[in-house]
Amino acid sequence: MTVPERQVHEFPAVIVGAGGAGLWAALELAREGIDTAVLTKLYPTRSHTGAAQGGICAALGNHEEDHWEWHMFDTVKGGDYLVDQDAAEVLAREAIETVLELEHMGLPFNRTPDGKIDQRRFGGHTRNFGEAPVRRSCFAADRTGHMILQTLYQQCIKFGVRFFDEYHVVDLIIEGGETRGVVAYRIADGEMHVFRSPAVLLATGGFGRMFRITSNAHALTGDGPALAYRHGIPLEDMEFYQFHPTGIVGIGILLSEAARGEGGYLRNDAGERFMEKYAPKLMELGPRDVISRAMYLEVREGRGIGGGDYVHLDLTHLGRAVIEAKLPDITEFARVYQGIEPITQPVPVQPTAHYAMGGIPTDVMARVVIDEKNTALPGLYAAGECACVSVHGANRLGTNSLIDILVFGRRAGRDMARHVRRNGVPDVPADVAEPVRAELEALRTRPVGENPNHIRAELASVMMDECGVFRTGTSLVRAYNVVCDLKDRYRRAQVQDRGRVFNTDLLEARELGYLLDCAEATVMSAMARTESRGGHYREDYPQRDDTEWLQHSLAYRTEGRPEMRYKPVSITHFEPKPRTY
Ligand SMILES: Cc1cc2nc3c(=O)[nH]c(=O)nc-3n(C[C@H](O)[C@H](O)[C@H](O)COP(=O)(O)OP(=O)(O)OC[C@H]3O[C@@H](n4cnc5c(N)ncnc54)[C@H](O)[C@@H]3O)c2cc1C
Repeated sequence: MTVPERQVHEFPAVIVGAGGAGLWAALELAREGIDTAVLTKLYPTRSHTGAAQGGICAALGNHEEDHWEWHMFDTVKGGDYLVDQDAAEVLAREAIETVLELEHMGLPFNRTPDGKIDQRRFGGHTRNFGEAPVRRSCFAADRTGHMILQTLYQQCIKFGVRFFDEYHVVDLIIEGGETRGVVAYRIADGEMHVFRSPAVLLATGGFGRMFRITSNAHALTGDGPALAYRHGIPLEDMEFYQFHPTGIVGIGILLSEAARGEGGYLRNDAGERFMEKYAPKLMELGPRDVISRAMYLEVREGRGIGGGDYVHLDLTHLGRAVIEAKLPDITEFARVYQGIEPITQPVPVQPTAHYAMGGIPTDVMARVVIDEKNTALPGLYAAGECACVSVHGANRLGTNSLIDILVFGRRAGRDMARHVRRNGVPDVPADVAEPVRAELEALRTRPVGENPNHIRAELASVMMDECGVFRTGTSLVRAYNVVCDLKDRYRRAQVQDRGRVFNTDLLEARELGYLLDCAEATVMSAMARTESRGGHYREDYPQRDDTEWLQHSLAYRTEGRPEMRYKPVSITHFEPKPRTY
């Protein structure tokens, strides 16, 4: 079956995703006068970037001395030396101009008394190569991401970016070794649309929904990485997934690290600030992997609150004025979801699955690369949380994602502009949408089969319990077997809603397939890596092993087990050292 002519579109540039990464890329292209389509399954301002609370870092030095070299060092050390240092240098240098450009676009940052952008502390950001915490995170109260998204969206409208809201991208068109566009499913009526384009950016965000307790929005299901994986592109460093220490108990909604940046404490059942034992210098401002593990250990040794599986985040000493001015949203979450008054009571918290360090491999121009030699796939780009450039290595520092999505979203837009000037809109076969249309139809009309909700719940549980903060060879084998079994059952998945109009049941089932692919690559990469580094902690291999493992993993999809390959880490300034805080 061919897609009707009116549903075939041509654009010099197509962007999948309207979070911070996608919007900034679109803005760069539109400013160059390039007709750009942004396809997004959510209304743009509902993208997860809008949920980011704490801040965006740049070594502006508005309160105290700071330098991009210090920021670069912290990023490399925070990532347990798996960071590509050429990329970290780009991040730390360009962070400064990027934040200033946001300011010039009108983003309402909090201000210092003399009118500069205000800055606060965040975990792992230090002065003078690790001496003590530094104030590097710029913020708009605890709604920084919301303000970024609104500001960029307004700019995109101003420059005439074409938005296709509620278009769910369901396939990439890659033929003859080059990018030719995407296939999208229009949520309103279930029609397939083909977008022909020589340049496509994947900016689809994370995949935290593969875990039971997560801070991630419902839509974060790894669509971009899974679609790339299905087209033979490897997924890089998937074993590194970050658990954020302070999620609301049981539901995982995030209480930003800004709470600790403003001076909040973590306490165990005895009321002790237990981080003294684990990160004596930085305490509650140690990196997230270290703090999440410390919390689990406290709980395991019986020092969780009342013997339970959580600890306390204590803000009571900060006082009403600070809490109301700088942490209004997250304290409201504690009131609404927990019935706790953070001004007078400690808040129960536990680690929550938060951020994917791994993803689609790219170079520093955000071009997707497909092998150990960093060979670029012409016309395909990735930026933001779905990409792995890799600036976060084995563990990301707080506030380094918002800056990553903007710095590399901007670079993607600029390189795409160069690419489309040299390449016209490509041809695609008339029946290019057929394979994915047939897959969706089979899913929509299967008369009997497995309930996708059950598969999703089982996946989230096994990932949380067997491939979470702590892992062992045995737990990972168990996880792998379950994921394989779930993939098998997924082939027979059946949805309840048979309609074509706003069939979210169908799309959620489709997204479950993406989560299963991401989970498969994650578990396989974690099984292979017999060391502990950053967010990947193997109890059976508790040491970091630079001789064997100072390398990035690449998981390739096959008919059976994913194939693992490895590529070197770029080291330009800082030789790997043991990581102490
Ligand atoms: C609660 C929370 C708080 C955070 N706080 C901070 C913070 O303070 N500082 C910080 O640096 N980082 C923070 N992070 C991390 C950071 O916000 C994210 O990593 C970042 O915003 C991701 O941006 P993105 O542009 O890559 O994707 P997103 O903002 O997630 O956007 C993804 C886009 O892709 C689209 N999309 C996805 N799949 C498809 C598809 N199949 N078809 C069409 N469109 C699709 C969606 O519609 C959406 O527009 C936080 C994250 C969370 C969850």
